[in-house]
Amino acid sequence: MTTKVLKFGGAALRDLERVADLVVKNECERLVVVVSAMGDMTDHLMELAKKVHPNPPKREQDMLLSVGERISMALLAMALEKRGVKALSLTGSQSGVMTCTGHGEAEIVEVRTKRVERHLSEGNVVIVAGFQGVSLEGEITTLGRGGSDTTAVALGAALGAEVVIFYKDVAGIYSEDPKKNAGAILRKLLNYAQATELCEAGGVIHPRAVRLAEKTNLKLAISSYSKNCVGTIIARS
Ligand code: ASP
Ligand code: MG
Repeated sequence: MTTKVLKFGGAALRDLERVADLVVKNECERLVVVVSAMGDMTDHLMELAKKVHPNPPKREQDMLLSVGERISMALLAMALEKRGVKALSLTGSQSGVMTCTGHGEAEIVEVRTKRVERHLSEGNVVIVAGFQGVSLEGEITTLGRGGSDTTAVALGAALGAEVVIFYKDVAGIYSEDPKKNAGAILRKLLNYAQATELCEAGGVIHPRAVRLAEKTNLKLAISSYSKNCVGTIIARS
């Protein structure tokens, strides 16, 4: 049974219809899609909170910020349904992403995949809201900025996925930032240590997610969402 996890960030989700088209193109027995909030939605939600309270209580901030990813997941499920694809969206909590209680910077302690697996076996593309989970006490938590990458890797590892594909506004990971340096070289194959170092310097994937992939020996791929072509593979060397 082949399983793939696709991860779409805020930039990709500015164009929801394109994301839905990319999901449709990925043929796989079991397909899970992890989404971030659309565009700058998380920043806007933070601004909203700050207008009400200069130092928002962390619990309520998590309740608010987790909404961004929920908007993406529901809209993407609708866009897939429109294309005749059986799809279903789940929050982090519904997906069994269990975390510690650290509001705003929670660590994933376990992924209870039973529900996701059931919906997959019923033939659904399962769309999961990234960046969020639920503590053992039942509180909604968020994983820190850029946390959806970690959701994608944690789910991929727990489901035994072959690969997690990150769709980005760049072709892959470069030796330097390609937006600042035209001479930057695309690195087609990286081991986890090399990828961690480049991601710590330049972004692309959250380094925490790369480290988790190393720990769980999970292959990662980076593709541009405009060209739909894998530019970088991260795997054990
Ligand atoms: N939406 C959250 C953020 O902007 C999480 C993510 O994008 O991974 O930080
Ligand atoms: Mg975001």
